[in-house]
Amino acid sequence: MLSEKLENALNNQINFEFYSAHIYLSMAAYCLDIDLDGFANFFTVQAEEEKFHAMKFFNYVNQKEGKVVLKGMPDPRVAFESALDVFETALLHEKIVTSRIYSLSDIATEEREHATLSLLKWFIDEQVEEENSLTTIIKKLKRMGGDSAALYMLDNELATRVFVPPVI
Ligand code: MG
Repeated sequence: MLSEKLENALNNQINFEFYSAHIYLSMAAYCLDIDLDGFANFFTVQAEEEKFHAMKFFNYVNQKEGKVVLKGMPDPRVAFESALDVFETALLHEKIVTSRIYSLSDIATEEREHATLSLLKWFIDEQVEEENSLTTIIKKLKRMGGDSAALYMLDNELATRVFVPPVI
């Protein structure tokens, strides 16, 4: 059984993870529009991951006899300056996600809700990977400058990313 406070906070996170998927699909649409299909693939896979995150919380709330409440979401951003702008925006978004996971962990710690803390531990580790993979690509894009051959190679590299549901 979850406290009302924790149930609401977990529900907010379910909605935020689905919103993250929406944001990343909008980034994929931008990348397709500027003919960077590999970059678009990266964000389409990222959106799949976010839906997986949402469903992980979704299933957990249900397992704990809570009720999942889905909500509407704001329009995602549709216009960007460049591929670098997209990745920098994505990194900022993931930093927000990380701080939200930490806040959830604070509530679960206060309530001595160890099962929820165990779930959140998975997300804490996942966020380290999320931030790291985006930071790595941002560094590459900055190093490349305006070199279009290098951009083409990175686009090819990102075209190979596939969604693999994590084994839990
Ligand atoms: Mg996520």
